[in-house]
Amino acid sequence: MESVRIGVVGIGKIARDQHLPALAASRDFELVAVATHHEGVEGVPTYPSIEAMLEADPAIGAVSLCTPPVGRHDIARAALEAGRHVMLEKPPGATVAEVDHLAGLAAERGLTLFCTWHSREAAGVETARAWLSERTIRSAQVIWKEDVRRWHPGQQWIWEPGGLGVFDPGINALSILTRILPERAILQQATLAFPSNRAAPIAADLTFRTVSGAPISAAFDFRQTGPQSWDIIVETDTGTLVLHDGGSRLVIDGETHTVETGEVEGEYPNLYRRFADLIRRGESDVDLEPFRHVADAFMLGHRTVVEPFDD
Ligand code: NAP
Repeated sequence: MESVRIGVVGIGKIARDQHLPALAASRDFELVAVATHHEGVEGVPTYPSIEAMLEADPAIGAVSLCTPPVGRHDIARAALEAGRHVMLEKPPGATVAEVDHLAGLAAERGLTLFCTWHSREAAGVETARAWLSERTIRSAQVIWKEDVRRWHPGQQWIWEPGGLGVFDPGINALSILTRILPERAILQQATLAFPSNRAAPIAADLTFRTVSGAPISAAFDFRQTGPQSWDIIVETDTGTLVLHDGGSRLVIDGETHTVETGEVEGEYPNLYRRFADLIRRGESDVDLEPFRHVADAFMLGHRTVVEPFDD
């Protein structure tokens, strides 16, 4: 397949940190345009909206959306209605229904929709999945605690309705958990802590059970200074598996199986390879399970009010 001409929408932190370098190194895609509100990309035509971008360059075959989740549905819909394949950053949207709608639209038009979960591309995840597939899960524990000031400096959208607060990183943990567990988990209970001046939670504690009854706890916190924790521990009938550092380091019964230096260096190149492959095969990849768990937490969760948060 010739390389696909691609446009990126929303040139912010993740586009600059990961998407642009991954595209620069990709043989599958050629970055030919961007649409964004602020500074664009040197040497690449920049447009104020997706409509302007697609109208100016009818040969764009695919778009990658790196805007915050609220508002992404309109952009993705415009791209699909204009006949372009679409790749979505996580979380795939602001509501479950809007992403379902996009999946239907892509299917109707024979286009690819790829709802990405970058953490599933971390080095230890597929080995963890294979190891767990042959075992009985006894329990699991997720500890996902990071410093919002360090990772989301000044981002106001994350505190707005639909910005998800601590579930913005927490959904990465859920994307790994739902990939590696051999059975489905169902939320039993949740507590969400909202700063008194914010519309999204700064911390959350969740309790799940797998369908066969194994307990799973998840602790998400945005107030972690010092060492950061992105760990998943799974106890099975024949040993303990631990994924550290967001899935990039896998330890089974104390023995290290996978180490990747540089937290996410392979994740985004993998996502673009997968997108190209989906386009080639004429398929979509829309797995909404992590997103459903977050929706369930907002539906079922007790809300507590904690001290105000200011950047
Ligand atoms: P960000 O730094 O705020 O960047 C988003 C950019 O999109 C901003 O420049 C924003 O401009 C622009 N934008 C918004 N609506 C637009 C539209 N309709 N057309 C064109 N541009 C538009 O946010 P981010 O951290 O990159 O996060 C974006 C997404 O990536 C989120 O879903 C997040 O969960 C995901 N993600 C982020 C990280 C990370 O480390 N930050 C990691 C993995 C995934 P305005 O500010 O003017 O609205």
